[in-house]
Amino acid sequence: MIAYQTILNDIFSDIKNTEDRGKVASYIPELGKIDKDKFGMHLIDTNGRGYFKGDSEELFSIQSISKVLSLAMALGLVGENLWQRVDVEPSGDPFNHLSLLEQENGIPRNPLINAGAIVVADILVTHLKNPKEDFKKFICKVAGDPHIDFDPKVAKSEKETGFKNFAAANLLKSYGNLKNDVSEVLDFYFHQCAIAMSCTQLAKTFFLFSNRGQCMQGQTYLNINQVKRINAIMLTCGFYDEAGEFAFRVGLPGKSGVGGGIVALLPDQFCVATWSPGLNMKGNSKLGMRALEKLTSDSGLSIF
Ligand code: GLN
Repeated sequence: MIAYQTILNDIFSDIKNTEDRGKVASYIPELGKIDKDKFGMHLIDTNGRGYFKGDSEELFSIQSISKVLSLAMALGLVGENLWQRVDVEPSGDPFNHLSLLEQENGIPRNPLINAGAIVVADILVTHLKNPKEDFKKFICKVAGDPHIDFDPKVAKSEKETGFKNFAAANLLKSYGNLKNDVSEVLDFYFHQCAIAMSCTQLAKTFFLFSNRGQCMQGQTYLNINQVKRINAIMLTCGFYDEAGEFAFRVGLPGKSGVGGGIVALLPDQFCVATWSPGLNMKGNSKLGMRALEKLTSDSGLSIF
């Protein structure tokens, strides 16, 4: 048995007095208001037992972490056809870069950079009756928690300042890789990013990726090969131009968001969520990465 609680306690004492916590994302003005001193962590082991520390129950904006959930939902709806519209290669670029999209004729490198997630959002807008509501309900069901919701202020704040995402969607449209209206797809995308969740809720939701596609309530959402694909994409693309560094230091598939959250998992062992709003230069949570590096180093557990 791994002493997860002891490891979490050690991580907390290691990081709690850290001065340099990175910078809170301010390009979405509403996110710029978050207190940088927050830190939370929640780990769920393979038996469903939870271990937590710090601000693990506090809600924050999940931002790009939502891209894994929209991908899971879209894959369930359209299956392997999805890969005709979005590739599975790491981009080596920041999450919002557009140069490769032009060079590669409107096929985004992968579903976790913004352009790729906007294509996935387009697929959901096409196939769902009430896209925003249905997506939210999907997350509530997977998490086993009916209270998960959007933060409308964050969605509005990003809509007012998301010029690069408008550029990405328009480029996609010009290449014929966006079927719905730019404004409708982006309204969905800004809302999916503005889902507010705690570390506890995130760990419960992502449990299915560590548990062969079955959520904590016992329902199966993805088959084993779909889980393989999604975890592979998280490993190679989940941290944009820092995916190599995350694999090197932490050694787990995972996904970050500019709200300061990170989720990571070890298949058949555990799923973990961290939250510390300060980001490093690459837009990933500075202390979250440090906490996860300590978790895999102290436990000796990683996919490698
Ligand atoms: N909503 C953010 C954006 O589109 C998501 C970016 C992120 O979390 N890396 O810019």
